[in-house]
Amino acid sequence: MPKIHALIVAAGRGSRAGVGGPKQYRLVAGRAVLAHTASAFLAHPQIDRVSIAIHGDDRAAYEAAMADLNDPKLSPPILGGASRQDSVRLGLRSMAPEAPDFVLIHDGARPLVSAQTISNIIKEINQKQGASAALPVHDTLKKEQSTYCGKEIIERDRLWRMSTPQGFPFTPILAAHDALESENFTDDSALALATGLPVKLVESNPENIKITLEKDFAMAEKLMGSASNIRTITAQGFDVHRFGPGDGVILGGVKIPHDHGLVGHSDADVALHALTDALLGSISAGDIGDHFPPSDPQWQGADSAQFLRHACTLLSAQGGTLTHLDLTLICEAPKISPHRADMQQRIAAIAGLTPDQVSIKATTSEGLGFTGRGEGIAAMALATVTLPTKRG
Ligand code: MG
Repeated sequence: MPKIHALIVAAGRGSRAGVGGPKQYRLVAGRAVLAHTASAFLAHPQIDRVSIAIHGDDRAAYEAAMADLNDPKLSPPILGGASRQDSVRLGLRSMAPEAPDFVLIHDGARPLVSAQTISNIIKEINQKQGASAALPVHDTLKKEQSTYCGKEIIERDRLWRMSTPQGFPFTPILAAHDALESENFTDDSALALATGLPVKLVESNPENIKITLEKDFAMAEKLMGSASNIRTITAQGFDVHRFGPGDGVILGGVKIPHDHGLVGHSDADVALHALTDALLGSISAGDIGDHFPPSDPQWQGADSAQFLRHACTLLSAQGGTLTHLDLTLICEAPKISPHRADMQQRIAAIAGLTPDQVSIKATTSEGLGFTGRGEGIAAMALATVTLPTKRG
């Protein structure tokens, strides 16, 4: 069995994809782009080892992105260079001591490469030939002329869009990179051809897009068939606070005039507390008292918005997305409906939602029980979130 390594190039800055840092570390379907890409090669039975070239500034992002990839096939990351070509050369050199027979070079920002495409590349490489993933061009192409307004039609027959992975016999491609270090090539197959190593074109799976622009993230998400990678979880929260002296209550972050206040260690916002517990429930992260102990004086009179915000941050850290909140308040008074819109606005603002994603309902308990006797307010909440499916 030949020894086949994969080199994933992920040292770019990805400035074209807008905000949010280098694109290879941004989440698609709940996982970093690079984690998807690496997984495709780690999971492939013919790939013996996977090396990833990263930028020196991205070590922490890399560790976070790859935390769940506990695979012995994955080598420690290597530092890339100023250009893609430099990164490939450095990556190849780092592999030299292990001397694989073949190497597949792949863009970190192509997370949708299929196992079939990887297999097809491997099938076509030998000691005298490389192979590159590519897609035939079906659209009519026109070339804009700079000197006049006309357009020249380019024959689309035999035109291919070059892609990755590109597979090569290891020794010749490393030698080619070393020999042509000072020149600039658009991809490794062009470089291989320049040294006389032929490269066969192999049709790629069409979903194997390179995430370059902001809109590509949405496309990649769609292509990954988010439904199969995402689980929807609904979790509940419940809270009660008793009435005490005061001239108003804070509910859902909104001050509502009343002939009583609510008693509590923080601002006693029973609505935000129930919502916070619901969110914590969605990620099985305990309850609000675990995160903000009532015994801790720093939460004395605290604005409960920070509790809900904290739960939202914990959810995001797991790649989760909050999609809906549903709150029911149980009390005889004050009347909730005049304040419903304000509470929706406020809760949405705290949780990063739009008001239509926040439902607020109110009921009395028909004079029964502690709420019926006007001793306090109870709140029930449901949070609906989506979370990436756990691997393994
Ligand atoms: Mg409470």
